[in-house]
Amino acid sequence: MLATRLFGVGDIQTVEVPMPEPGPGEILIQVEAAGICGTDRHLFKGEFPSVPGKTLGHEFSGIVVDNGGAEIAVGTRVTCDPNKWCGTCDQCRRGRVNLCPNNMATGIGRDGGFAEYCAFQASMAHVLPAGLDPLHGAFCEPLACTLHGMDIGDARPGERVLVIGGGVIGLLAVQLAKLSGGEVMLLTRSAAKQALGKKLGADLVAGSEAEAREKWPNGADLVVECAGVAETVAMSPDLTRAGGRVVVLGVLPAGAQVPIEPFDMLFREIQMHFSFMNPFTHGRAARMIADGVIEVSQLISRKISLPEAAGAIAEPALAGEVRAIVVPGM
Ligand SMILES: [Zn+2]
Ligand SMILES: [Zn+2]
Repeated sequence: MLATRLFGVGDIQTVEVPMPEPGPGEILIQVEAAGICGTDRHLFKGEFPSVPGKTLGHEFSGIVVDNGGAEIAVGTRVTCDPNKWCGTCDQCRRGRVNLCPNNMATGIGRDGGFAEYCAFQASMAHVLPAGLDPLHGAFCEPLACTLHGMDIGDARPGERVLVIGGGVIGLLAVQLAKLSGGEVMLLTRSAAKQALGKKLGADLVAGSEAEAREKWPNGADLVVECAGVAETVAMSPDLTRAGGRVVVLGVLPAGAQVPIEPFDMLFREIQMHFSFMNPFTHGRAARMIADGVIEVSQLISRKISLPEAAGAIAEPALAGEVRAIVVPGM
């Protein structure tokens, strides 16, 4: 079968590999869709620790073709929570599974979804309906990460929520904030993403920090930083009202430093939080995708085949692109 593997920093190729053989507790999935995420490009560039020779792809869904004796029936569509925590370390034992130092992520530490088939632990698969658009399953993982961040942010009805960044996470955050009953502004420089944000429920859009401040002079109750850029993290407390919260979901390069003013944040009692991965939120994400309460079809910028996947990961995302989805059956 074909798989897109990272052989080393800067060396990604789609190659012929043996069919994966499911181990104990594993099922075999025929991959229908796998999203290309910023993390895949970080891995390619060596900005994120990787294991040479592994198949990338951690945002995927597909059909169970061998259930390995697990309860889940052959033919079932599933989405895969790529993280597998150890369950025995100090963090796992206090329920902080996303902080498990022994976490093994499918598509990073073990072979993932940029392949025709993937062997995957049955315990981390979540069922999706047979009638769902197969491409939609690839959005469960980013939605699960966004849900964790929004849980931390705890937006309440009537609050003002400023989402910074018009990528997948930002556009999912806009929708979740609207579902929470918030008044939502999307801050992104991209006019195309502003337009998309409006379609997906943003009440207001802004193209700059100044424009956001002009629209909400007192700031937002909750700022959700989804851009992963030093400047936008730095502006987040400034755009938060006194007593408000910031949640950072965006991933900055390791070592990046951001100037913040503790004096201001203390006197205005700004709570600043960081949100990492998807602890126990994948099931909720799967249900929301299954129910169609989150619009994802407009987040699909292009569909690409497995042979094209290596090149697509090696290159930066296209201008205005939200999500490129690898479709192995294409
Ligand atoms: Zn990702
Ligand atoms: Zn652990």
